[in-house]
Amino acid sequence: MDSVDTEPEAGTSTEEPAAGINGLPLGSAGRFGVLLSEKRRRERWEKSRNEIVSAIIGHHTLPSIMQKIADAFVAMCPTKAVAIAMLSGRRFQIAAEAGLPQRSQTVQLAALRAELREGAAGLRLPFEQILDSGIKLCLVSPLVSVSGDTRGVLAVFDNHQELLDDTTRETVLSLCDLARLAIDHCQLYEQVVHRSQYDGLTGLPNRLLVEDRLQQAIVTAQRQGTLVAVCCIGLDRFKQINDSLGREVGDGFFKLVSQRLTTSTREIGILGRQDGDEFILVLRELDAASTAAAICRRLLKDLSVPFPVDGRLLTMTASIGISIFPDHGDTAGQLLRNADIALQEAKRGGRDQALIYSPVVGRQTRRAAEMVDALARGVAQIQFHMAYQPIYTVQRKIAGFEALLRWKHPQWGEIGPLEFIPVAERSGQIVPIGDWVIDEVCRQAMEWNAGAVQPVKLFANVSGVQLAHPEFSAKIADALSRSGLDPERLELEITESWVIADLKAAAAKLQKLRDLGIGIAIDDFGSGYSTFHYLQTLPLDTLKIDRSFIHRLDGSPANLSTVRAITGMAHELGLKTVAEGVETELQVRQLREIGCEMMQGFFLARPLEPQAAWSLLAASAPTESLTS
Ligand code: C2E
Ligand code: CA
Ligand code: CA
Repeated sequence: MDSVDTEPEAGTSTEEPAAGINGLPLGSAGRFGVLLSEKRRRERWEKSRNEIVSAIIGHHTLPSIMQKIADAFVAMCPTKAVAIAMLSGRRFQIAAEAGLPQRSQTVQLAALRAELREGAAGLRLPFEQILDSGIKLCLVSPLVSVSGDTRGVLAVFDNHQELLDDTTRETVLSLCDLARLAIDHCQLYEQVVHRSQYDGLTGLPNRLLVEDRLQQAIVTAQRQGTLVAVCCIGLDRFKQINDSLGREVGDGFFKLVSQRLTTSTREIGILGRQDGDEFILVLRELDAASTAAAICRRLLKDLSVPFPVDGRLLTMTASIGISIFPDHGDTAGQLLRNADIALQEAKRGGRDQALIYSPVVGRQTRRAAEMVDALARGVAQIQFHMAYQPIYTVQRKIAGFEALLRWKHPQWGEIGPLEFIPVAERSGQIVPIGDWVIDEVCRQAMEWNAGAVQPVKLFANVSGVQLAHPEFSAKIADALSRSGLDPERLELEITESWVIADLKAAAAKLQKLRDLGIGIAIDDFGSGYSTFHYLQTLPLDTLKIDRSFIHRLDGSPANLSTVRAITGMAHELGLKTVAEGVETELQVRQLREIGCEMMQGFFLARPLEPQAAWSLLAASAPTESLTS
């Protein structure tokens, strides 16, 4: 790029945003001080770029981001003007402009919303009438989303000449890239907000949304002195249907059940889907608990009519657990928990019945209590061990391993972490267990790195409860020095929920860990929260894309574009990506195509015992230094 330096003396007024081509003598401006020195250009560019990226990640609205882009352009190229039009249906609407003639003429701009015709000629249309005012159109660049659709156009104007110099052209291209990123991000954000509130299979509100509505219902009931009932509806033996007829038929059947429940509960309550084979129904403004019980009995009757599935009639029963506000709790969480305990009791008591919660300690609570004692013995007797799941580069080389905790109880056998970790978190036992995990992972990484032909990184999961411990980073420092492990060989996986709970505290804490030289990954990215702004403010290295996104990579362009947008955003922030839960060859191909760096999943390898993991590592070819 040529360096032009007609920088004015200090104190001259060229820092003013240029009058643009608003009828002011721009032709003469070129003579004096509108060309920026290379250094000044770069500084301005960095500043504008950071502001725009912040606005994107901070979920600003698309028009306000586009306005920032237009302003940035005029700040960089003060003799020019710019307009950005977005496609709304089949019409263009001017979303942002800078440097164009004043209001009176902008009215004309609004009249420019011409209908989109196919092809490049159509794309020129929205700006043709601007040219009536004698302004010249220099360039029109389409703004194409990751899914390949034209979503808008960016046009550059000048009073005098149609030709653009190389530097301006480069600025336009860079700003178009940012505009595309903004478009993708906004689309992704909308999808994620929807996904975070609605269940993908049935389209019903998910637990989070129902919980929110329940909380509102409680507030109203408090004011009116009425009752609220929470009904947990569980399908009896649904797992058998899934196992015998296959997941696809199971899903189809589940949808039919959900439709019937929707019809039966229309206008009487809020129906949502709980995880797995359960629904939640919230009944508002009740006068007596017996009304809720009567409604639930009617639902059981409705459900007992056979369902036509796959050319045959299937019958099914359900069990329902009911909790009542204010008798069984005054928060959404308590009411849901108690309705669930009542549901377990209903199932144990023979199924196909509706049961109101009774404060006698439920079976679940008893089991959790038993588990707390068992975990204490587990810690004392070290009944834990680790499994290691390889993380591959998209070129199928081993980039590292995720360490996954296993518990072998002497009587109960292997218990999965999804079952015991929540209990250990509630009881605080996750702290000593987590300490053991870190020590074990450091020891293992040290051992493998001593013998391997290539350096290997281990990813360890840490729970929010561990991170909240004031001594957490000191403990990690201790574990590193005790084992002698190079900190670059360790990365901690943390969850979004912990980060979001207190962003400021999380930033300080993570920085301390980062200062030790270890890496930080966000686990299960996108699984529950509809905000990403934290990504920008935290010191992070890796983003692990939740497997729910990867499962949907089935060849459809819409699903691919979501993962592409997440990857693009991660790269924009300097983060590497790991796709979780890769289960098919097609997913591998698609991930490679969109530039995701690493992947992990049953298709590539299951979690392995240490010896098997070592054999795999010893036999594998060296990786590029992706994770170092
Ligand atoms: P996670 O961090 O998301 O770990 C990945 C889980 O996904 C593992 O389950 C793994 O076996 C499973 N997985 C891997 N590939 C696939 C795939 O292709 N398809 C499917 N459907 N699943 C796949 P696992 O071992 O049961 O761990 C479950 C969760 O338990 C972990 O989820 C993590 O949140 C937690 N966890 C595991 N170990 C630890 C630990 O040491 N400390 C803490 N705090 N949590 C742990
Ligand atoms: Ca993990
Ligand atoms: Ca994960």
